[in-house]
Amino acid sequence: MAATRRKKLVLAVIDAMSPAMLHETVAAGRAPTLAELIKRGAHVDNCVSAFPSVTPICAASITTGQRQDRHGIAAMNWYHRGQGRYVEYGTSFRASQAVGFKRSLTDTIYNMNAEHLSRDVHTVFESLDDDDLRTAATTFLIYRGRHVQQPADDTALTRLAATVFRHPVNGPRELFYADLFASQRTSCRSQFGLPYSRDPHAGCVGAHLVEQDLFDFLLLSLPDNDSHSHRQGPAGQIDSIPVADAAIGRVMDAGGGIDAFLEDHAVIVCSDHAQTLVTDPIDLFAAFDGFNFQPATNPRRGKPGIPDLAVCPNSRAAQIYALGNRRRAAVDGYERVLRETPGVELTMRLTDHPDGEVAIRRQDGELRFSPGGKLVDLQGRRWSVEGDLDVLELSFDGDQVASAAYPDAFGRVWAALRCRTAGDVFASAASGHEFVDWGGSHHVGGGSHGSLHSDDSNASLLWCGTGPESAEARPQWLISDIAELVRGHFGLPSRLSFAPPGASSSD
Ligand SMILES: [Zn+2]
Repeated sequence: MAATRRKKLVLAVIDAMSPAMLHETVAAGRAPTLAELIKRGAHVDNCVSAFPSVTPICAASITTGQRQDRHGIAAMNWYHRGQGRYVEYGTSFRASQAVGFKRSLTDTIYNMNAEHLSRDVHTVFESLDDDDLRTAATTFLIYRGRHVQQPADDTALTRLAATVFRHPVNGPRELFYADLFASQRTSCRSQFGLPYSRDPHAGCVGAHLVEQDLFDFLLLSLPDNDSHSHRQGPAGQIDSIPVADAAIGRVMDAGGGIDAFLEDHAVIVCSDHAQTLVTDPIDLFAAFDGFNFQPATNPRRGKPGIPDLAVCPNSRAAQIYALGNRRRAAVDGYERVLRETPGVELTMRLTDHPDGEVAIRRQDGELRFSPGGKLVDLQGRRWSVEGDLDVLELSFDGDQVASAAYPDAFGRVWAALRCRTAGDVFASAASGHEFVDWGGSHHVGGGSHGSLHSDDSNASLLWCGTGPESAEARPQWLISDIAELVRGHFGLPSRLSFAPPGASSSD
């Protein structure tokens, strides 16, 4: 491997970048680097996100190439049946506060990678580390690699943080994570990952890594667009995509500008999901008022015994876990409550069918599907489907089945419900609606994501200097294909077949 002259690779993940807003920002002349990459490479506007289309699930899919039925990250907020508690990765500051700030941070910074992410899957960092390639990442939720990284202690603030977050982690060879981990001494600071400081921090670190020639693969994480779009609404991305663009531009400038940089680097840019405007909150806690649901923190004051259910809002998706006895009958009731809650568009659950079957309900309509059968989706997977086809707005071309409104719905819902840490019933919100989180926060007036709908679920994907020549190489791209692009670029086994640039010059 050492003798190959394969280009180095940068994967830039712009959180929540909406394909339409990327176009608008480029058209306005405010994203010159992305415009140039689009011009020189291949570009997809409808790369399908996970469901729920929330960042932790997406980050795990992007880095492992799997869905949550394999990688095990169920949601942003989920119920840990084994530990009898909620896991909250930080839907909002107040949601983290509700479950306990230290616990939420510990779950997000440590447990997500060390415990919640399945050991049965490999991240791209692990795959490349095993091949002695030099891996690097800036603050990304999934960072698991083969290199032990000690907490940073080079400033008074990091020394203070290190009294709480004092454990090492297994990361890529170079890891820069919200000032808590910094494998190289640089002048780059992220104010502990505060919004609006993170993209500049990533750009600063990325430029340092290029200048010092410290990576073969760099995951450049650019999360500020998501925070800005949550506040200002998706239209506000016209001001935050340029910040991400500038960070990518800074990394390229460190390599001598875009022409020189692309001579020895390939680039993939993607988003993990999009965002839509929120006009109305959905209060699940009010909907389940009167039910004995698990509160945010233990001990459960005044309510001894086992709670009957756990309630997990996930922005524009939600899930309910049945905890008590007679679970099957209980699930029927919880699904009915969800269905009758204004703003809920779809409910989803597994049925009693012994071979596995999903029932999706929308108002009075019900559709059931199961794996195997004569219909083929755009991923080439076979399904049998019965019931009201309008529930998912399905279209047919012979035996081929697709839905523009709910892209790759069968595959995504199946993975969501078959995830071992997931709830028993899922809900997807109607346009404009968002579930209020455990801290009482929502984004009415701003943007959000999470639903099965294409508005949230279609992400951007573009590549330059790697991957297949044309986006037409696949009928439908998924965010889980990105890990395969990365592995394929370095000549590792990949589900996607393409000739990685430079591969022919290897020995
Ligand atoms: Zn978000």
